Amino acid sequence: MPAVFIGHGSPMNTLEHNRYTELWNSFGSSVPGPRAVLSVSAHWFINATAVTAMAQPKTIHDFFGFPDELFAFEYAAPGSPEIAQEIADTVAPAWVGADRDSWGLDHGTWSVLAHIYPNADVPVLQLSINAAAPADYHVQLGAALAPLRAQGILVIGSGNVVHNLGRLDWASPDAAYDWAQSFDEEAERIMTEEPGDVLSLLEHPAYSLAAPTPEHFVPLLYLAGLANAAGTTCEKLIGGYALGSLSMTSYVVR
Ligand code: ZN
Repeated sequence: MPAVFIGHGSPMNTLEHNRYTELWNSFGSSVPGPRAVLSVSAHWFINATAVTAMAQPKTIHDFFGFPDELFAFEYAAPGSPEIAQEIADTVAPAWVGADRDSWGLDHGTWSVLAHIYPNADVPVLQLSINAAAPADYHVQLGAALAPLRAQGILVIGSGNVVHNLGRLDWASPDAAYDWAQSFDEEAERIMTEEPGDVLSLLEHPAYSLAAPTPEHFVPLLYLAGLANAAGTTCEKLIGGYALGSLSMTSYVVR
């Protein structure tokens, strides 16, 4: 299985059709049927490492101020308690808790899976981002997930390389601030040339503007870890910007 990082952007991408969602859809068609998807979503950012272990994860509408149609959206993919256990075993001795009732699938996961697997027929699990852990923990945990690829599991990191909601510029739907572009370009260099150096991005002069809070950036660390574990680099799937302070760039490890 490949592994991928998707820049998910606005939850409205769930319902829209644009060049990003078309890419997500064609990516899904290009992957030979996975046993399951494991999503590391920016939107499950808690003080623990946990994996969803319910048979039927609920669709969580974790946003406000969007149309009713988005709140009515349901992504009814099954979960898999068995694969949750397999994931916990694979990353041992790292402690991974089984979440049987608190979370489900958040919009970081279903806004992109609505296009990657529109039939919702592939089991989906989420791995939380441990907010209490240092950055290198996420790179190492990403690397520890590498054996899952050979077990038919498609690992998806869902976030945004640049994500600063406080700086959104509604007059620039498809453009970026200079600092956003500078950070995104350095991230591209690192991911496509030396993903083992991904933590150097935390020292980039624009890091605090690109990731004023880390949750959308951290899923990229998992893909860097997966690339490293495979002794390879990432390929850019698509690039672009939204509203000045969002990067929509996506990467794959094949
Ligand atoms: Zn998001």
